[in-house]
Amino acid sequence: MRRRGLVLVFALAAACRRAPADRYPAASVVLVSIDTLRADRLALYGYAKGATPHLDALGREGVVFEDAYSHCPLTLPAHSSLLTGLLPPHHGVRDNEGFSLAEDKRTLATRFRAAGFETGAAVSAYVIRASTGLSRGFDRYDDALPIDPAVEALAAQRRDGAQSVDSLLGWIDARPARGRFFAFLHLYEPHAPYLPPPAYQRLGDPYDGAVAYADELVGRLVARLRERGRLDGVILAVTADHGEGLGDHGEQEHGLFLYREAVHVPLVLRLPGAARGGTRIAGTLAQVDIPATLLDLAGLPADGMDGRTQRAVIARGTVDSRPVYSETFFPRYHFGWSELLAVTDDRYRYIQAPRPELFDARKDRAERANLAPQRAETVRAMAGWIENALGRVGAAAPSAVPADVAENLRALGYVGGTARLGSTSGPLADPKDEVGAYEAFRRAGALHDGGHDEEAVRELRRLLADSPRMVDAWHLLGLALFRMGRTPDAVAALDKVVEIEPTHAGAHLALARIDAIEGRPDHAARHAQLAAATQPGPGFETLAELMLRANRLPEA
Ligand SMILES: [Zn+2]
Repeated sequence: MRRRGLVLVFALAAACRRAPADRYPAASVVLVSIDTLRADRLALYGYAKGATPHLDALGREGVVFEDAYSHCPLTLPAHSSLLTGLLPPHHGVRDNEGFSLAEDKRTLATRFRAAGFETGAAVSAYVIRASTGLSRGFDRYDDALPIDPAVEALAAQRRDGAQSVDSLLGWIDARPARGRFFAFLHLYEPHAPYLPPPAYQRLGDPYDGAVAYADELVGRLVARLRERGRLDGVILAVTADHGEGLGDHGEQEHGLFLYREAVHVPLVLRLPGAARGGTRIAGTLAQVDIPATLLDLAGLPADGMDGRTQRAVIARGTVDSRPVYSETFFPRYHFGWSELLAVTDDRYRYIQAPRPELFDARKDRAERANLAPQRAETVRAMAGWIENALGRVGAAAPSAVPADVAENLRALGYVGGTARLGSTSGPLADPKDEVGAYEAFRRAGALHDGGHDEEAVRELRRLLADSPRMVDAWHLLGLALFRMGRTPDAVAALDKVVEIEPTHAGAHLALARIDAIEGRPDHAARHAQLAAATQPGPGFETLAELMLRANRLPEA
C-alpha cells in the first residue's frame, strides 16, 4: 500500500514536469525582432567576443530556444512568417520588393485585436513600412522614418532603434494598467551598414558593435517595463528575422544563401513572473511556431497556421522535432540564378540547389563538408519532405503582366514585354558559383554610394560581360551612368533592365526622371505608372511631382 502511494507520488511529479506551461489569460504580449541577428553572435549561444548583457540577463529570466530557424533570409518574407505563422509559399511574400501581404491573411495583430487587445508597433526600416501589409491589425504602426537624402535607395532608409523604442514605450505607457495589449518592436541595428555608436566601436568588429547597441535598446525596453511594474504581466519574446553571412560562405550580408549563419536565429521567451527562467530547450523549432506559441500562452487559439504552439514543450525541455523549411528566391528574382530551398532537422541540414548540399547538423555546425554525394538516400528523403509538406515550391510570379502595364510598355516601345520577374528558360546558375559576381555587385554598390561612379561603372561592365542577366547590376549601372551625365548610356542600361524584368520599379522611376528632364512628360508619366504597378508609393509620388512640374495641379 505504501509502495503504491509512493508510485503515485512519483507519477504525479512526472506528470507535473510534463504538464504544459501555464496560460496567461490576463497577460499582454511584447514581440521584439532584431533584424539580421545571428544566433551564434550572442553569448546566449556561446559567443565570447560580443557585449550583450541585457540579452544575457533576459536569458536567465526566460526560456532560451537553442535551434530556432528562419524561413527566409530576407526581412519582409521573414517578418511575414513571424507575424502570420505561415510559411512563405502560404503567405505569398517571397521577396522584399514587389510583394505585400494579402488582405485575407490573419496576423498576430488582427488576432489579438479581435480578442480585445490594443495593438501597437514601431519599426525601424522602410522594408517593413506600413504599406507592405504588415501593419494590418495594428491600432498604431509607427514607421515614420526621417528620409536621409544621402541614402539614394528608398529601400535602404532606416532609423536609429532608440526612436522606435521611445515611440513604442510612449504607446505602452499610455495603455491602461488593466487592459491587455500586443506590442511589436523592430530594431534594424545589426543590418549593414553596421554603424555602432562610439561607445561600441571598441568591440573592433562593427557587426558586434551594432549588436551590442541593439542589446542596449532591448535593455531599455525591459527596464522601463520593469520600472512601470508591467514586466511581470507580459509575455515577452525576443528573436530575429534572419541571420547574416559575415563571409562564412563568401556572402557578407544575407539573401543569397541558406547556410546556418543566415537562418539560425535567437529566441528568448520571458514568461510573466520569469516563470521557468533559465530553461534551455534544444531541438529545431520553426519561426512560424513563435506566433502560435504567443497566442496559445495568451490563451487564444492558434488555428490556421503552419506554426504549432510550443507551450507543452516549454515544460518538457525538448521540442517535438519537426523539419523546418526555408527558402530564398532572391538569387532568382534579382539575378536570374536558381532559388534555394532548405530543410533543417536535428540530424541534417539539406539545401536544394542545382548542386544540392547536405550537412551534419550536429558535428559540422560551420557547414564545411557537403555529404550529399555520399548520402543520396537522405538527400532524396529530405527533398521528398519538401514536396510532401508544401507541394512543388515554385517562384511566385503573377503569370502575366496586367493589361494596363502591358499597354504602357508597348507605348514606350518595349516589345515582347510580357515576361515577368523570375521567369527564365533553361537551367539556372547555382548561386554558389555566382557568389563572386554577387559580391562584386555589392562592391560596385558601395562605390556608387560613396560617389565613385567611374570605378563602379568599370566593375559593373566587367561583371555584366560574364553575367548579362544580373538585372540589378544593369539598374545600378544605369544610375551610375546617369549621375555621370552619360544619359544615353544610362537609358540603354535601364532599358536592358526593363527587357529582363518589365516591371522593375527602380528602372522605371529612373527612366521617368530622365524623360521628365529631357522634356518627354508623356513618356515620364508612363514610366511612373509602370513603377507604381509594383511600388505604388514612390511611383505615385513621382507621378504627382511630374504633374506639378507640368502645372497640372488639379490632377496631382
Ligand atoms: Zn532582415
